[in-house]
Amino acid sequence: MLGTYDIVIVGGGPAGLAAAIYGRRAEKSVLVLEKNGFGGQIAWSPMVDNFPGIPSVSGAELADRMFSQALDMGAEAELAEVTRLRREGAGYAVVTPDGDYAAKAVILATGAQHRRLGVAREEELAGNGVCYCAVCDGAFYAGRPVAVAGGGDSAVQDALLLSNSCSQVYIIHRRGEFRAEEANVEALRERENVAMLMSARVTALLGDGELTGVRVESEDGSAREIEVDALFVAVGSEPDSAPFADLAATDAAGWFTAGESCEAGKPGLFVAGDCRAKSVRQLTTAVGDGAAAAVAACRYVDALR
Ligand code: NAP
Repeated sequence: MLGTYDIVIVGGGPAGLAAAIYGRRAEKSVLVLEKNGFGGQIAWSPMVDNFPGIPSVSGAELADRMFSQALDMGAEAELAEVTRLRREGAGYAVVTPDGDYAAKAVILATGAQHRRLGVAREEELAGNGVCYCAVCDGAFYAGRPVAVAGGGDSAVQDALLLSNSCSQVYIIHRRGEFRAEEANVEALRERENVAMLMSARVTALLGDGELTGVRVESEDGSAREIEVDALFVAVGSEPDSAPFADLAATDAAGWFTAGESCEAGKPGLFVAGDCRAKSVRQLTTAVGDGAAAAVAACRYVDALR
């Protein structure tokens, strides 16, 4: 065993870090395991202006503050991928490639990952013009034409961000209206270097080894090829739940089906944040889940004594 904890939290995004803070406030020993980078998806958000009490802050800074707060309160954190959970005695073995951690309670806060567009050669061209993060990769395409696929808040925000530096931005959405916040859609409409291709889909990626354009087909049957150096895919997210689906129930799409109490239906197992089936996936709802899951986990640990 690499260590023994009251609570092991799988995932170091806002839900996991909020859970760590609540766990430490209840004086539990807490370990957070994260496979990529602490802070989760919010760390890539250029600006967060809907977190109560903090009118405007970059996602990276907010993530950093949450992480520091959890550590300052005594939570431990390790970069490690959890490959599975195993029931062991009254608790769990949390399995990583370097060994196992023992936990009385586990909170799965595994978040979500970028959904693929599902067009041929997407994997092949990923990193060679096909991108999933405008904040990370947008600067590479300054002064050049790009496209964004999607119609939600992410796509519209990405298009806004890219239009600040790219020569031309095409936003390609499969329906006639966006589901994004109207204020951002309006702001996008006012950009002179943005073209909105509505009721249209990307049906082919062009270019040999490097993206040079996309083929777009409209609902009316017309098709055109657009020369772009990058396609930013922003079509939502999918849960990162597969390694745990044997212990925590999921719906058909793979989201954990715990209710508001965040209890996953097995003793000492809880889920929190974007990985949970819910209607609103926001920073605020993620930290709310983290708090609820940690309170329930602390009660569970106390009852074992
Ligand atoms: P989303 O709201 O699920 O939107 C995904 C978009 O991609 C939809 O417009 C959808 O089309 C489209 N889409 C899905 N699959 C597709 C496919 N295979 N081909 C083409 N288009 C496809 O995802 P999101 O924009 O990433 O946002 C996720 C959550 O985070 C939302 O709750 C959002 O409000 C929140 N968010 C908030 C902020 C903020 O600053 N407040 C920023 C980013 C995200 P349809 O519209 O036809 O379904």
